[in-house]
Amino acid sequence: MAESSPTAIRYRFDTVPADGKAIEVAPGIKWLRMPLPLALDHINLYLLANGDGWLVVDCGMKGRVTRELWQQVFDNELDGKPINGVLATHMHPDHVGQAGWLVGHWQVPFYMTFGEYFSARTYSAPPQEIPEEWQQDNFAARTGMPAELVHRMRKGTAGFASIVEPLPRSFRRLHDGQILALGDQRWQVIVGRGHSPEHACLYNPALNVLLSGDQVLPQITSNVSITGTEPEANPLQEWMDSLRRLLELPADALVLPAHKAPFTGLHLRLRELLAHHEQQLSAVEEALAQPKTAYELLPVLFGRELHNEQLMMAMGECLAHLQLLLARGAILRERDAAGIDTYRAAPAATMTAALQHE
Ligand SMILES: [Zn+2]
Repeated sequence: MAESSPTAIRYRFDTVPADGKAIEVAPGIKWLRMPLPLALDHINLYLLANGDGWLVVDCGMKGRVTRELWQQVFDNELDGKPINGVLATHMHPDHVGQAGWLVGHWQVPFYMTFGEYFSARTYSAPPQEIPEEWQQDNFAARTGMPAELVHRMRKGTAGFASIVEPLPRSFRRLHDGQILALGDQRWQVIVGRGHSPEHACLYNPALNVLLSGDQVLPQITSNVSITGTEPEANPLQEWMDSLRRLLELPADALVLPAHKAPFTGLHLRLRELLAHHEQQLSAVEEALAQPKTAYELLPVLFGRELHNEQLMMAMGECLAHLQLLLARGAILRERDAAGIDTYRAAPAATMTAALQHE
């Protein structure tokens, strides 16, 4: 009983793989790490036994450093077998950055979901110039941010192509519920949403192992953001629905995440993440007893000073919380003559809150 319902999150390995080295974490599953030039300084990649070769899960960032480390892995960690497939869980540059090179180097199939593949292809294509009079790009200004930040936010995904190697020109589509047969192992594809459009997780019932990508991380929370591409999206609803679905997996599954270390305690972590967002939602709702712009709400959600990229991600995340509260009818949004959105608690919600406080 204790085995099937862990009461704590436990990290299963004492060490992390050294540069260019692998650690076997389950039969036929090797764990690698690649460096990232970010505050989050590494990504975990995995090799899955795939018949007479290995399937790579996630690829690392573009650049010479990652490529040299891959070369060391090829030389020392493949047990004399080739790479025979590459899979990217989702479109973010640390996951898909080296996909084109890996696929080209080994001449192997590339696996991704439809939404992730075409998002990555779109973001890496040269931007089209939109005539000034066609622009309807006041998304950033509506947040009430200072003009200089509005300008930065408008640049959006323009830098994507520079941090991702050219993507493979064809792919094999992964879809939710699909069974991916790798040699004699069966992996179930579970699509999660909210962090990216159609994120693939892989679950192996025989090994009771979940490759969770960025969909479930220990210690840190994945970014869940609204961007100017789809300003009325409700990614936090999608994210929380996706987390609840993963509660259907066994509580004692070994989770192999894309960042930090492999762990057990899946249900605990999912519940922590759900509770974290509910807390953030309550904090926002409470703060909106007085009307505020999204920009004015940032200190409520993030109790620290934010800079540059951090600030953009924080704003996207703040909007995601606001959008979910709007969908629940808990808050209202009004646009003033200058086009800036102000949010406030819905009268009924205020009343309920007042009653609860009595
Ligand atoms: Zn990601």
